[in-house]
Amino acid sequence: MTTSDRGSDMTTPDTSTPLVPASELSQDEVITLCAELIRFDTSNPTSDERACADWVAGRLAEAGIESELVESAPGRANVIARIAGADPERGALLVHGHLDVVPADASEWQVPPFSGEIRDGYLWGRGAIDMKDTVAVMIATARHFARTGTRPSRDLVLAFLADEEAGGKFGAHWLVEHRPDLFAGVTEAIGEGGGFSFAIDGTRRLYPIENAQRGMAWMELTATGRAGHGSSPNDENAVTDLAESLARIGRETFPIRLIEPVRALLEEAARLYGVEFDEDDIEGSLERLGPVSDFMQVVLRNSANPTMFDAGYQTNVIPGKATARVDGRFLPGHEQELIDTIDRLLLPSVTREWVNHDIAMETTFDGPLVDAMCAAVRAEDPDGHPVPYCNPGGTDAKAFTRLGIRCFGFKGLKLPHDLDYGRLFHGVDERVPLEGLRFGVRVMSRLWQSC
Ligand SMILES: [Zn+2]
Repeated sequence: MTTSDRGSDMTTPDTSTPLVPASELSQDEVITLCAELIRFDTSNPTSDERACADWVAGRLAEAGIESELVESAPGRANVIARIAGADPERGALLVHGHLDVVPADASEWQVPPFSGEIRDGYLWGRGAIDMKDTVAVMIATARHFARTGTRPSRDLVLAFLADEEAGGKFGAHWLVEHRPDLFAGVTEAIGEGGGFSFAIDGTRRLYPIENAQRGMAWMELTATGRAGHGSSPNDENAVTDLAESLARIGRETFPIRLIEPVRALLEEAARLYGVEFDEDDIEGSLERLGPVSDFMQVVLRNSANPTMFDAGYQTNVIPGKATARVDGRFLPGHEQELIDTIDRLLLPSVTREWVNHDIAMETTFDGPLVDAMCAAVRAEDPDGHPVPYCNPGGTDAKAFTRLGIRCFGFKGLKLPHDLDYGRLFHGVDERVPLEGLRFGVRVMSRLWQSC
């Protein structure tokens, strides 16, 4: 069975009542909303989210939607709203987006990064795809539902969060720890990390829907040696030992581990390209898949890259200690393998400590929510092929998983074939196609009524 028709075997919620389509007004409004969101400089770590959060609460209130503004620290603001669904007996769906963005260096950009300018069919600015686009889609869809009296199929919890770009200490993780009541009854969640289009050819697109994430294993390595004069022989030089350990880690080729979402995506891509996917010859299969395999390289295996090094204070002094940082990532089910590999590569004088250690996640690609996401994509893009997807990085979903919530990444963004989406993430000239925003409201509007 291929991934794309897997959904049809599952029970889907009753769709006998026709869905209320997203109005023209809501599709126009999403563009204005996104532009206004971009104009709040919510750079993390230099700014805070309070003004932006107040504005979000205001846009919801205008449509009669109550929300709660929760500050985890002065200025670090989150907004949570609950919208009653048609069937209160079913578990609620959490829809989350973050209000903060990574900083931008205006001198590198073609447009001022916080101007929210429209040019050539795109809305430009920091956060345009990460992820004020989705935040705008959430607000536009909620306002559309409120204006038209449209009810979601089940209760919705909308969460507009602080601090995602720095790990969610003042956002998702804080709320999960201090205000779990806000998520009472939530069984599933959608957030960033999937639901965008990836061009297969001139007409067909994959829509990777995230149902897995790699875990984070950021570590600090410390080498301890014998301090001494820089001119004397020293076989316990901390700098040498650390450098050697780092070189081994950096040059290590981790073995391919084909986890289910990655396999499913590659198989569907092979089907669409009309080429064979042979599990006994993964390298050969990947070659046949061209751009898809480039896109998937990062989730084929664990990884560990040395990123920082700190040692010494004078050329002629051998320090007794040297430290370095390594960015390690592991696939679901392969954490121990990463740890064992690192420990094998370290020289005996080098120890490691976690700087940031967070879980990998994986849930199955099935059930009514998955069916509804796939159906919403296909309805709005008949040449769209939804597939499971493993996110190479991490999102706020890691926090919500701790509450037993089943987390997916799904935004509903159709992109032009010539746009390099990956490069725009945290990149220069970040921008979102206006048509993509309108598409998002149509998809989200369907999803909320049918999930
Ligand atoms: Zn993001």
